[in-house]
Amino acid sequence: METIAPFKEVIDEVKALGGEAVSYCYQCGKCDTVCPWNKVKTFSMRRLIREATFGLTEIEKDEIWRCTTCGKCPQRCPRDVKQIDDMVALRRMATGYNVFPSSVKPIRTVSTGLTSQGNPFNEDRKTRADWAEGLSVKQFTEGTEFLYFPGCYLCYDPRLKKVAQATVKVLKKADVDFGILGTKENCCGESIRKTGNEQLFKRLARENIKTFIDNGVKKIIVSSPHCYHTFKNEYPEFNVNFQVIHMSQFLLDLIKEGRLKIEHGLDKRVTYHDPCYLGRHNGIFDEPRAVLKNIPGLELVEMEESELDSLCCGMGGGRVWMETEKHERFSNIRLEQATKIGAQVLATACPYCITALEDSRLVMNYGDSIEVKDITEILQEVI
Ligand code: SF4
Ligand code: SF4
Repeated sequence: METIAPFKEVIDEVKALGGEAVSYCYQCGKCDTVCPWNKVKTFSMRRLIREATFGLTEIEKDEIWRCTTCGKCPQRCPRDVKQIDDMVALRRMATGYNVFPSSVKPIRTVSTGLTSQGNPFNEDRKTRADWAEGLSVKQFTEGTEFLYFPGCYLCYDPRLKKVAQATVKVLKKADVDFGILGTKENCCGESIRKTGNEQLFKRLARENIKTFIDNGVKKIIVSSPHCYHTFKNEYPEFNVNFQVIHMSQFLLDLIKEGRLKIEHGLDKRVTYHDPCYLGRHNGIFDEPRAVLKNIPGLELVEMEESELDSLCCGMGGGRVWMETEKHERFSNIRLEQATKIGAQVLATACPYCITALEDSRLVMNYGDSIEVKDITEILQEVI
């Protein structure tokens, strides 16, 4: 493998991103004590920051691809070092030089799919709305109040299509005026940006923004916290501002307004896993819990490491497309935490989390002893 180090450009960019803060890292190691990687193997953000500062970082290292951008260490760093931005800057450099360690190679295939079909699976764009067949979902046209944007995983993944279908049923039950863009929808681009492919992110974002504007979209309901994050916090970089609502917020509003009547109870012990991009990155902790608390009979119990301290599922920062050894998956630990408190249902509100947790459920042979569900699926069962 080509070795290109040290990288003056990386150091300059990292320093520019963090201002002087990167140089001020005083190596306290607080980042390493909270990083979920250290539950499964040795990994040191502290060391990476030191190396970036002194120009020793080699971009062909697996290490720069590990960070899931979970947001735990930035909130603990006493020196306001921008760890996530720094790692993304290193990845941008690696992507520019086409240097990918073996665990990261699938990203090339993902980029091809995103470029040609607008989705990471390289599935035919024409089939993007197949999940909605038989549900009589209308195409979004100017004047429709809400755009429902399910995102790639809910459009193509067989498990997650069920979440999109449940969402449509709930929205219809509440008589919401909504439509979908169907084959005109593109990946939001959030995760490919975190892998360092800034050019592809910009292309996807610009295409989506053009489609939104051309169709008169103003309010967007999303199921994925990753779409939420990028539409709300990153698309404004292109001088646009759409009203973005995560489904957990929307569900709670519908319940409060009396538009969704809960007709059945659910006698189950349920715990809620906070997705990093909904909770830590965007402060949405209460709404999904409040939705669940509205269901009679449902007992909501908290796991260790919840809300601000929530354990990352391992799929953010583009890790959803990279290889993670079976024994290194954070989602295995999350399932252990959920079963330890006797939860029968592990609820969440993110397609990446569901993918990781369902996978761990199978790998660890939990069988039917615990279910993994999106809160929308749970609500759909009781209305
Ligand atoms: S927590 Fe901040 S100051 Fe401490 S080692 Fe990590 S990056 Fe440096
Ligand atoms: S953002 Fe999360 S995964 Fe990345 S280094 Fe910090 S704690 Fe670890």
